[in-house]
Amino acid sequence: MTTLTRADWEQRASSLEIEGRAFIDGQYTDAAASAVFDCLSPVDGRLLASVASCGEADANRAVANARQVFEAGSWSRLAPAKRKATLLRFAGLIRQHAEELALLETLDMGKPISDALNIDVAASANAIAWCGEAIDKLYDEVAATPHDQLGLVTREPVGVVAAIVPWNFPLMMACWKLGPALATGNSVVLKPSEKSPLTAIRVAQLAVEAGLPKGVLNVLPGYGHSVGKALALHMDVDTVVFTGSTKVARQLMVYAGESNMKRVWLEAGGKSPNIVFADAPDLQAAAEAAASAIAFNQGEVCTAGSRLLVERSIKARFLPMVVEALKQWKPGNPLDPNTNVGALVDTQQMNTVLSYIEAGHQEGATLLVGGKRTLEDTGGTYVEPTIFDGVSNAMRIAKEEIFGPVLSVLEFDTAEQAIAIANDTPYGLAAAVWSSDISKAHLTAKALRAGSVWVNQYDGGDMTAPFGGFKQSGNGRDKSLHAFDKYTELKATWIKL
Ligand code: NAD
Repeated sequence: MTTLTRADWEQRASSLEIEGRAFIDGQYTDAAASAVFDCLSPVDGRLLASVASCGEADANRAVANARQVFEAGSWSRLAPAKRKATLLRFAGLIRQHAEELALLETLDMGKPISDALNIDVAASANAIAWCGEAIDKLYDEVAATPHDQLGLVTREPVGVVAAIVPWNFPLMMACWKLGPALATGNSVVLKPSEKSPLTAIRVAQLAVEAGLPKGVLNVLPGYGHSVGKALALHMDVDTVVFTGSTKVARQLMVYAGESNMKRVWLEAGGKSPNIVFADAPDLQAAAEAAASAIAFNQGEVCTAGSRLLVERSIKARFLPMVVEALKQWKPGNPLDPNTNVGALVDTQQMNTVLSYIEAGHQEGATLLVGGKRTLEDTGGTYVEPTIFDGVSNAMRIAKEEIFGPVLSVLEFDTAEQAIAIANDTPYGLAAAVWSSDISKAHLTAKALRAGSVWVNQYDGGDMTAPFGGFKQSGNGRDKSLHAFDKYTELKATWIKL
């Protein structure tokens, strides 16, 4: 928690020193070609920093470095208890620098400072600590062998991991990868999004300060089509772990096939249904959750509840409650601790969102609230939280991931209909069900093709449960002990006795 005011944050922002260089072999370094790109703040459009625009040469250097340190064993063969101690120190340093990191995140991608501090940075530190805590409590297996054989089933780190992450929760997505990757002894080359590179660059140094050997964590800012592609095609990268769009996820599988068949683990897009039955236990809570599910983080959330499915018999009563609840989500300056909706990440994303709003009008949906750009005089990229009623699943606003604060309302009469509409999507990341009938809630939850299902709430979860997608929302899971599977190979060793 913090008692800092908007004026305090603005004062800190004005004197903040921002590092924009890549981090290779334990030190900050310019990109090989000395290329840079402008890092602009969506809060007000101002230039924050010149950031290294890494390319293939930087990828080659970082991967060679990561490989060398992996083979040397200073981290990969360190006792798990010692890796734990380092990761706990790393988590501690993230917490110690929480205000600085939150400020960087807010300036870089526009999210409210209170969220950056209390959600993003807190969860990032927690992810690192949780994985560190776990690693000296995991045991390998002895197979059920004949008397004269000993069969050992052991887990080994995969080697060099390339982690490619998006801009909506920049540090948190990075730490969901770094926690299990580092805990299991791998070396990592992290590529943050070109739209939000600053916190990744900063924490690399904190990791070294915590005692992580140089070269175990490298950070390469730059564009997807240059450094991202170079990492994904690299013959000496063993695994790519990714969070981002389904379009890029698909491309990464192609790159793996075209190169060394590296393992590819994908956390991709979503178009999550939020199903409200007439017998929901608390319609007011459901309305507030529906609003928060589309407005939190400006709707730039992979699990955003972007399709609200409402049982026809309660729609006339329920929708005004959702509209009212959404009015509590007001765009404002993200450095104000009371702001709950910040700026969209950049002009490109704002224009994408506005073009979907236009598509909603064109396709005949009915605008209930919002629908416009706002706070234009700030120079920032703000869009009003928006609801369209009268949406069918055939409309683009119901089919495609908008990744902004635009909610589509659809209606149904029976549970079978609700399930059919909910599953009629290439995505399968998350879903929610509201009902006080325990059997109906369970049966609906079972029928939904999604990696996370919430009952009578939206967006529950912590490090203890796996997170990821069915269908084109991805493969593999982040968080929980299941995440460790992505970063280890299973080995069977047979010993003749
Ligand atoms: P994106 O796919 O455009 O970019 C993600 C990352 O991939 C960035 O670092 C980008 O530079 C890189 N990239 C782009 N092209 C590349 C290429 N050809 N080769 C290698 N790397 C490349 O996604 P985004 O716009 O940054 O993020 C939004 C998306 O992320 C949404 O679809 C959202 O649903 C998804 N997301 C998913 C989860 C999840 O856990 N499933 C969580 C957060 C966000």
